[in-house]
Amino acid sequence: MSGQETIAVIGAGAIGTAAAFALAREGRQVLLLDRDEPGVAGASFGNAGHIAQELVQPLPSPGLLFGFYRELFRFGGTLDLPPRQALRMSAWIRRFAAAAFRRGENTRHLAPLVRPSVAAWARVVEAIGRPELLRRHGHYEIALGPRSPARMKAQADEMARVGVRTLPLSAEQLLPVQRGANAAVAAGLWFEDSANVIDPLEAVRAFAAAALQSGAKFRRLDVKGLRPRGDKLEIVSDQAPLVVDSALVCAGVRSAPLLAPFGLHAPLQAVRGYHIEIPQGAAFFDAPVVYTEERVIVTPMSGRLRATSYMEFTDVDAPADARKPARLRRTVRALGYACEPDGVSWVGSRPVLPDYLPGIGRAPGPAKLFYAIGHQHIGLTLAPITAELVADLVAMRTPRIPLAAYDLQRF
Ligand SMILES: Cc1cc2nc3c(=O)[nH]c(=O)nc-3n(C[C@H](O)[C@H](O)[C@H](O)COP(=O)(O)OP(=O)(O)OC[C@H]3O[C@@H](n4cnc5c(N)ncnc54)[C@H](O)[C@@H]3O)c2cc1C
Repeated sequence: MSGQETIAVIGAGAIGTAAAFALAREGRQVLLLDRDEPGVAGASFGNAGHIAQELVQPLPSPGLLFGFYRELFRFGGTLDLPPRQALRMSAWIRRFAAAAFRRGENTRHLAPLVRPSVAAWARVVEAIGRPELLRRHGHYEIALGPRSPARMKAQADEMARVGVRTLPLSAEQLLPVQRGANAAVAAGLWFEDSANVIDPLEAVRAFAAAALQSGAKFRRLDVKGLRPRGDKLEIVSDQAPLVVDSALVCAGVRSAPLLAPFGLHAPLQAVRGYHIEIPQGAAFFDAPVVYTEERVIVTPMSGRLRATSYMEFTDVDAPADARKPARLRRTVRALGYACEPDGVSWVGSRPVLPDYLPGIGRAPGPAKLFYAIGHQHIGLTLAPITAELVADLVAMRTPRIPLAAYDLQRF
């Protein structure tokens, strides 16, 4: 297909499908491309469904930089960064370290994107006629053990400092969690302004269906490359070349090679996470629960509970590490959930740039090449707001949030 007006959206995860809908509803001719069916092949399939309006601070911090070894998988933690991998990632780690010392400044860049995320979700689920996909019941953070009250107090203070509202949980609210985990002491906070999605895959499918209903087309295509062709773009695959007027790259962790021919360097690292599920599992709360010491989040989803964890720094295509879901199951059981020791698990790659800011912008040069990548641990959260920004960019309107900090030319 070649089309004067066509914008190709490459990648049908949460970001790509939300963007395809935002563009199609403005009357643009959208061609949504993915090597697989929408939502199934990337991180958007298996995430925790948490609309993390509280995560206004990027992850790199001096505390993590100097204390990360305490979190390592081999010492029982959830962060897996083997020395050989760290060596391979030395340039990325240097950038991460530099960002750790710019956390205040980077929070000023990230927060404007994160704070309106629940409102943007509410707008989009309303627009596509699927309000039931979003539950606005907040989320809970819980710590167990003797030090938990002090830890939760520190977390409440930190959240207040960055403008996030929390409420302490009462002894009565904590009792079932304590019984479940067999813990003498527990403390917890309710984050009333966050939200969750009852089924992340269903949300992506709903965005894609709404885009198609607004005139977009979907085609399964493994995009091998993108080339400038004057002010147009050629999409290279194992099928006949496609020439399009403009393109949006949102191929998650695999986006970098598509952007390189346009002079853009996207140092994306796969930070993999795992999930396990408990069919028909009973939840302690009607919202996600973050166990802060265990680094596990348990989310009630339609017909099941999903537990996610881990930050595994590795190659996107490396085989899954069976020890991780097995340990996750043991942890979730110890927390009081009726979790079988064996069962299906999933691994997926968070697309992470070293400063934990996303890449949203337009490539330099005559070709109309846009990108929306690097949404790290909060791509589900940021999908609707990113889609609105992409629609602004493509329409050459002043974006509703300044985008300079997300320009990939910072690398
Ligand atoms: C365990 C885990 C838990 C998480 N929990 C949360 C959470 O609770 N809340 C939250 O906000 N975020 C969460 N995230 C992060 C979130 O899932 C990601 O940030 C988000 O899904 C990224 O979306 P994306 O559309 O950019 O990428 P993806 O979902 O990875 O989609 C990219 C798409 O591009 C396609 N593609 C790639 N290359 C090509 C190509 N060459 N040709 C054609 N198609 C291509 C892929 O097939 C894929 O469909 C979590 C992630 C993980 C791993």
